[in-house]
Amino acid sequence: MKLLRVGRPGQEKPALLDRDGKLRDLSAHVQDIAGAALLPDSLDRLRRLDTATLPELPAASRVGACVGAVGKIVCVGLNYSDHAAESGMAVPTEPVLFLKPSSSICGPFDDVEIPRGAEKTDWEVELGVVIGKAAKYVPEESALEHVAGYCIVNDVSERAFQLERGGTWDKGKGHDSFAPTGPWLVTADEVEDPQALSMWLEVDGRRFQDGSTRTMIFGVAHLVSYISRFMSLQPGDIISTGTPPGVGLGQKPPLYLRAGQTMRLGIQGLGEQRQRTVAA
Ligand code: ZN
Repeated sequence: MKLLRVGRPGQEKPALLDRDGKLRDLSAHVQDIAGAALLPDSLDRLRRLDTATLPELPAASRVGACVGAVGKIVCVGLNYSDHAAESGMAVPTEPVLFLKPSSSICGPFDDVEIPRGAEKTDWEVELGVVIGKAAKYVPEESALEHVAGYCIVNDVSERAFQLERGGTWDKGKGHDSFAPTGPWLVTADEVEDPQALSMWLEVDGRRFQDGSTRTMIFGVAHLVSYISRFMSLQPGDIISTGTPPGVGLGQKPPLYLRAGQTMRLGIQGLGEQRQRTVAA
């Protein structure tokens, strides 16, 4: 299933994209694409619905983030060896983790703000893993049972805030609109191999990132298991699994976003996002 949330910010309705590309309203069957609605039984119940009987929503509806009420976004840094190299950092021996606040989440086509005082705002196309069943100390062998599905996350980053202002990376990762998420939550049964998805990102029509989840250092099953040793993962939490090479920081010379530009990004089978950059 391709699940999504449509409507004005904060008033999104749960919806499903049917096989004919029509938006179908799920409001009568689930309150939101969030929390307990992501548990395996709940997703099975939605899967059994006859989509043709669901009310159709206008095709032009705004699309919100594909998951509501996200508790936390756990991000994995430097999870592609060639991206670590372009960042001038060593390939990590264990996953590097940091958090993005849930207030940074926005819809996949919403404007992305360039923060006040920003100097080095950058893009990162990433595979997002949406947790469906709580995970605490789960072994790698059964880790994927805790995954509801996958989505695109743009891990927008202000490098000067991230790397030059002291402390952890979080200052440069948490601005409002720094986590466009969606358009769809594609349920795990429809993603045959999360480690074989091509991914790309363009700014103003120029392609900068062109990679594949194949070259991740730590794969999805390992990450779910690994993170669950340090903090529990709850239904609706998102893991953003790192970015392939081609970010602005890695260009020679480095190249960063300014207001008035357009980012487009996609992952095989998970749809596309598009954002305009605006001054905060
Ligand atoms: Zn990232």
